[in-house]
Amino acid sequence: MTEVQATVEKARSAARWWGGLGHRERRTRLLAWKRHLARHIGELAALVAEETGKTQDDAALEVMLAVEHLDWAARNAGKVLGRRRVPSGMLAANHVATLEYLPLGVVGVIGPWNYPVYTPLGSVSYALAAGNAVVFKPSEHTPRTGAWLADAWAAAVPGEPVLQVVLGDGSAGAQLTWSGVDKIAFTGSAATARKVMATCAETLTPLVVEGGGKDAMIVAADADLDAAARAAAFGGFGNAGQTCAGVERVYVERSVYPQFLAKLGALAVGEQTMTTAEQPAIVRAHVEDALSRGGRAVVGEPSSITARTVAPVVLAEVPEDSIAVTEETFGPTLVVNPVDSLAEAITLANASKYGLAASIFSKNAHAAAATARKLRTGAASVNAVLGFAGVPSLPFGGVGDSGFGRIHGADGLREFSRAQAVTRQRFAAPMDLMRLDRDPKVMRRALTLFHLRHGR
Ligand code: NDP
Repeated sequence: MTEVQATVEKARSAARWWGGLGHRERRTRLLAWKRHLARHIGELAALVAEETGKTQDDAALEVMLAVEHLDWAARNAGKVLGRRRVPSGMLAANHVATLEYLPLGVVGVIGPWNYPVYTPLGSVSYALAAGNAVVFKPSEHTPRTGAWLADAWAAAVPGEPVLQVVLGDGSAGAQLTWSGVDKIAFTGSAATARKVMATCAETLTPLVVEGGGKDAMIVAADADLDAAARAAAFGGFGNAGQTCAGVERVYVERSVYPQFLAKLGALAVGEQTMTTAEQPAIVRAHVEDALSRGGRAVVGEPSSITARTVAPVVLAEVPEDSIAVTEETFGPTLVVNPVDSLAEAITLANASKYGLAASIFSKNAHAAAATARKLRTGAASVNAVLGFAGVPSLPFGGVGDSGFGRIHGADGLREFSRAQAVTRQRFAAPMDLMRLDRDPKVMRRALTLFHLRHGR
């Protein structure tokens, strides 16, 4: 038996205990873990900063967001998932119908390195709150953060190993996918998601995929351009651009395009360390491709990218078939292209294989809402970026290569549960159709009623 399988075995017995505790008891323990994370935020943020290269403040913000979600999941699991009566309908009026969302058992969580607390906890917290045990495989780039989170759990909730970590590279993740867990929550690239899905298909293990993105910001002519430029800079360059739902493309209405570019250019400062050694080469390839196809660099140039650091690059008028537009760059670069109308911006924003999130800047709330509804994404922010990330009651997830299924919110709790429908017959039905010796007269009467109800 491999180490991963042995860990999943231990999780099985922990899952029985945890699942049997009930919502109230789980909530007490989840909140104890939450308090532990909150009290040790400095220590955890320092570790995240060390492993990822992000600043201590950015790491602390990540922990704050993760704790907010954990708190919500702990407090709302009972309400969202608990047993409740539902209408039983005309045909089964003699039954009481109840619905309850029960734990799946053991959930395997495979996480990325860019937000090694916030992102995996988006699955871990909701899976635990739904009554599952969790085996978490952090990225090989952030193993100590993963181990810290599980140690924190053991300190706050001593006893059964309800949250465990398996360390290693992608092969440890692969082992988790065929270890017999009851669901896999995967966050990472579409390429790895395809491999995970193929393995899960062998055992029909259900899967939720949080993939990457190529998120667009749309700037209308009536937008507050200062606010839009600030948000584009934060969403595009923050965390060295290594944010799945960060901004990668900006479509600006032509009449305000030069002003927007000037404002954004003034904000594009400061080189940052990339988390992995591979990432700068990908960023460079995207910048070079954009320039070789006729795009121009308003800020930065290929030499802004060294072996480990990248300074912001703003690319203008980049052809839409450049890889800087079609592929996820995951670096502090922004493609800013002019459009003739909001309709054109929507068409270009949607012409991506990704569909994670988007942002819209406009003073016209009605037009912004109408634009949001036309975007093929799982989320949208109006007059801000990443607004949804800090709202625990909202679901998060994408379409296309950005994945499927949802974490966060009530949908996120249900994602890690199985709906169980139970009916209890209270009395024999006056017209009982569910018997072999059904009376033909009863059937005729039922058909008459059926026509009256549905055929008129
Ligand atoms: P990867 O796809 O390379 O890896 C993701 C995780 O999968 C890692 O833990 C990795 O382990 C593991 N893994 C690698 N190979 C396998 C395999 N064959 N089977 C199972 N698991 C495997 O992504 P990155 O870590 O590079 O993360 C960056 C990507 O994640 C970006 O595309 C980003 O957009 C996306 N992302 C999406 C988010 C979202 O919520 N939608 C949030 C954050 C990131 P190891 O690292 O040890 O190789």
